[in-house]
Amino acid sequence: MVQKMFTFIKIKHLYLETSLLKISKFADENIVENDRFISQLKESNSNWIDAQIEQLNHEIEPQIDCTNCGNCCKTLMINVEQDEVQKASEFLGLKIEEFKAKFIEEGSSGRMIIESIPCSFLTGKKCSIYEARFGGCKEFPGLHLPNAKARLFTIMMHYDRCPIIFNVIEQLKLKTSAETD
Ligand code: SF4
Ligand code: SF4
Repeated sequence: MVQKMFTFIKIKHLYLETSLLKISKFADENIVENDRFISQLKESNSNWIDAQIEQLNHEIEPQIDCTNCGNCCKTLMINVEQDEVQKASEFLGLKIEEFKAKFIEEGSSGRMIIESIPCSFLTGKKCSIYEARFGGCKEFPGLHLPNAKARLFTIMMHYDRCPIIFNVIEQLKLKTSAETD
């Protein structure tokens, strides 16, 4: 059982793990179990999955301090739109071309990404342009979005790097097994 393997923080009735090291180790050791769980979820009703994830995310997300983590900013590739470049340039007091030259990698198709991983705007564990951060940053980890069933692969891609996703999935496992016992 998950609770026996971690030093969980007890919050309300939930026990949350926030150690990235422990999460990563647990993920490595439970690849088969996770694959089995995801296959089981794929057989479940999409609305039921959304309702469970929404409720767990609602309880768990406010209890995890992203400013004490910042792991998404250290590990993800961030897509950027033109209007977001403009907003961030203005925030930093830079000309758009100056901002692009310094921070953006632009593909031949016009697709733009932040040129560095970890993100250039990460200072310690905090975003230095928080008020002007990009849409993808605001949206991650995206557990509030509908149709999680269609996004299970993407969600699980970030299971070992995002404590919010990790704890939501682990609680969902417990809930699912309790309901099927
Ligand atoms: S812009 Fe800020 S929130 Fe977005 S990835 Fe970079 S540091 Fe993180
Ligand atoms: S969204 Fe997840 S990975 Fe990003 S800072 Fe918050 S807990 Fe960490």
